[in-house]
Amino acid sequence: MSIVVVGTVAFDTVETPFGKGENVLGGSATYFSTSASFFTDVSLVAVVGEDFPEEHVSFLKSRNIDTSGLQRIPGKTFHWSGRYGYDLNEAQTLDTQLNVLMEFQPDLPESYRDAEYLFLANIDPDLQMQVLEQVKAPKLIACDTMNFWISSKPDSLKKVLQKVDIVVINEGEARQLTGEANLIKAARQIIALGCKRLVVKRGEYGVLMFTSDSVFAAPAYPLEEVFDPTGAGDTFAGGFMGYLANTGDLSEAGIRQAIIFGSVMASFNVEDFSLNRMKRLDYREIETRYKSFKSLTNFRDIVI
Ligand code: AMP
Repeated sequence: MSIVVVGTVAFDTVETPFGKGENVLGGSATYFSTSASFFTDVSLVAVVGEDFPEEHVSFLKSRNIDTSGLQRIPGKTFHWSGRYGYDLNEAQTLDTQLNVLMEFQPDLPESYRDAEYLFLANIDPDLQMQVLEQVKAPKLIACDTMNFWISSKPDSLKKVLQKVDIVVINEGEARQLTGEANLIKAARQIIALGCKRLVVKRGEYGVLMFTSDSVFAAPAYPLEEVFDPTGAGDTFAGGFMGYLANTGDLSEAGIRQAIIFGSVMASFNVEDFSLNRMKRLDYREIETRYKSFKSLTNFRDIVI
């Protein structure tokens, strides 16, 4: 089954303690769709400006991503600048230039409208809503967001959150969204808005998944070398949704397996700058790392 994703396709300028990338390929939809493309067909909805090099579009096409929903309009491409300190868990945004995002009117190609899986990646919640309204009857809708939209468009964002099945956000964003310091209480409040599941990304501490009556925890894969965490969250979401769309298994066990595939994909992405690690990733490596994940979290039950 294929996934439709709306999000940003961007130029990023990123500084980490290990180096700097200037105007490199980034964006929530770029990371998401590249990651999901290892599992399923992906159709991209996004906008770039006249300055966006054709080689980046060719890369997306080389991953079999449908780019017919990628508009190129007059103006400059969305640009994000951020910095990470030695605590690589949270990015500090230095500058956000929305540029062509301010003019963007998503108009989904006819072939996208029957999509069964829809991911509303991090972008203006008004644009997320416009895309949501054009997809006819999706089986599963998930969404992400970030502090920038939580503070600038809280009402639009709440409307989106009421219409999705799964919310996938960072720990800090869950707290910001609810004004609640305790993560469990924050999770309860977000679920009360109307979604069935909440997936909280916690950087090197892994992921917590909440429903109204269960919690599932997955660690992050222990890595010796982490160079650039940019895009880890979107890459996680791409592996998670990609695997779900591939199997169509929305049982609790199927969703937990998808959480691990998402974590595996994120663990590869942080090993290099921009999408460089994704560009040289092979599916066999994904399977091998999935198996080490399994042994990492496997332990014997107690006998009563
Ligand atoms: P993450 O997975 O959270 O590390 O996402 C990183 C990506 O989000 C970067 O490649 C940025 O281009 C993109 N990004 C940063 N700020 C925003 C924003 N306000 N809206 C949408 N995308 C953004």
